[in-house]
Amino acid sequence: MTNIVDREMLLKFARSFEGKSKCATCESLSCAGWESIPGGFITNTLESIGTLRVEDAPENWEEHHPKGTNMWSKDAPISISFHPYNKSDVYECRNCGCKYLRYTECGGYYVDERIRELNSDLISFD
Ligand SMILES: [Zn+2]
Repeated sequence: MTNIVDREMLLKFARSFEGKSKCATCESLSCAGWESIPGGFITNTLESIGTLRVEDAPENWEEHHPKGTNMWSKDAPISISFHPYNKSDVYECRNCGCKYLRYTECGGYYVDERIRELNSDLISFD
């Protein structure tokens, strides 16, 4: 069964890594904002620990940027009921415990796996 993650739990996940240091694999991944997962990056060190997807929730493609950020901003808020967070899964690195969000962007002709590091300061209350 997939673990449904709410904001409370997401905060807990994010805080559980605070003050710790990243392993070399995570260190090589720079994703304070959303990034495509680099081709050479080994994703099998990342383990799914839950999902932000709510089954049967109405589709919401709206993004939430009250402070003028955009989807790619490093300081964009993590608003779990908005796109793309409402389509994201939560991952943890097996080596160091660093937490990430991941979702798959499906365009007409491509599929793009995207990843963003989970930062408790950016988890929004909207
Ligand atoms: Zn790691």
